[in-house]
Amino acid sequence: MQLNFIANTSLVSSSGLTIPVIDPSTGQVFDEIQRSNAQDIDTAVRAARQCMDSVWSKLSATERGRLLMRLSVKVTEHAEELTAIEQRDCGKPTRQARADAVALARYFEFYAGACDKLTGQTLPYQDGYSVFTWREPHGVTGHIVPWNYPMQIFGRSVAGALAAGNVCVVKPAEDACLSLIRVAQLAAEVGFPAGALNIVTGYGHEAGDALVRHAGIEHISFTGSPKIGTLVQQLAAPRHCPVTLELGGKSPQIVFADADLDAVIPVVINAIVQNAGQTCSAGSRILVEEKIYDRLMERLGHAFAQLRVGPASMDLDVGPLIRQSQQQRVWDFLSDAQVANIPVVAQGQIVDEAPETGFYQAPTLLRDVPVDHRLAQEEVFGPVLAAMSFRDEDHAVELANATQFGLVAGVWTRDGARQFRMARRLRCGQVFINNYGAAGGVELPFGGVKSSGYGREKGFEALYGFTTLKTVAVKHD
Ligand code: NAD
Repeated sequence: MQLNFIANTSLVSSSGLTIPVIDPSTGQVFDEIQRSNAQDIDTAVRAARQCMDSVWSKLSATERGRLLMRLSVKVTEHAEELTAIEQRDCGKPTRQARADAVALARYFEFYAGACDKLTGQTLPYQDGYSVFTWREPHGVTGHIVPWNYPMQIFGRSVAGALAAGNVCVVKPAEDACLSLIRVAQLAAEVGFPAGALNIVTGYGHEAGDALVRHAGIEHISFTGSPKIGTLVQQLAAPRHCPVTLELGGKSPQIVFADADLDAVIPVVINAIVQNAGQTCSAGSRILVEEKIYDRLMERLGHAFAQLRVGPASMDLDVGPLIRQSQQQRVWDFLSDAQVANIPVVAQGQIVDEAPETGFYQAPTLLRDVPVDHRLAQEEVFGPVLAAMSFRDEDHAVELANATQFGLVAGVWTRDGARQFRMARRLRCGQVFINNYGAAGGVELPFGGVKSSGYGREKGFEALYGFTTLKTVAVKHD
């Protein structure tokens, strides 16, 4: 049984209840986590505040950085253990789970180095004054993490918050807690003071709700669905608690006729099948210039048909979805596509070794998806790619911007002037030209516009969100 980790101590929930942990590759229960409530959240927030007042706020930025660096090294030493935990808990193929552990270590490494480089400014003002700004931590920050990339999203949000001088209470997703409990134990082993990093597991409507409402939480970093993001904003509003929202996407890959298709195809496929399509920045739409549309569909269809889906331990192209309700969600989208006569170009293969009780879905390429169909508008969060064609640059921009989301876009063209025009006209937080995702890029600020959220995590930019600015004006004559 897994326990909460509060003030460097493993604790059962005061509810006395647990939640079963299911292996998505088999559909079988193999562990249980604590079903925490408002009382457990309160214990964690008090522990965090106590740590802030007694130890954390007294550490120099350099000492904080050294602690973060020690955790980075420790995570690297335990990368294979964390990979195995994540693989079973989330159904991630080995390469994906390992990449997540590597990224987690990298986040702590990057923010370790950033701790003592976060500075304010001196400001020119009237004669007789000296004016400057300080960047101060919010205090106790709350972090609500989704199940799709627990280690990566924990790393990008918590490492930045700690680096900026905050202490953290983390509520992982009920479907994916195990790696984060282990990381908090590792943090204690490398010398994190009790209360600096606390993990409280449980359901969103119980533990998550209590975290957002708690008066001792001074900033909330929420990564998850737009629906819950709206709720979190509403719950935080009465006490004016600042919120960073990292929500969903319906990100387009825009392919012009002059693109290098040999380079396009593997990247477009990876961007939709990585993590079984359960990626906020998945390239889930492909917009193709008319004159190469049929040719690209044929080549992509051939590549889709080769994709193999199976248990996480087989380390194939695609693993299972996280849970049965997610599988049902993808089926519902595909049956709506059938009703609308949207053509299926190709599907991958689920291997014979995949247990029937696991949550598998073959990657699916659909073409001629109408721009107003839900497959072109809503996040499927599965390995389903919706294709459509465009006439010219204006039409491509119109289609790309025609959803409620604005997270990421990929543009494929050799025309340099068009690359810049497109980057300017796309309404989103990141644009990738002739690549997609820049291999994760811990250094690169990430976040959205519109219903994809606001605020930025990753990179140095995130540190501004995890601090508040104080202006000090000294009158000296
Ligand atoms: P979700 O919104 O259902 O859950 C996310 C987290 O919120 C979980 O920890 C959950 O327990 C918690 N939660 C649920 N109800 C809550 C409540 N009432 N109060 C407080 N917390 C609550 O999302 P999900 O299904 O876990 O994740 C998938 C979604 O996350 C997708 O929309 C995806 O695009 C998005 N996502 C976005 C990013 C990004 O960086 N933009 C990254 C990963 C996932």
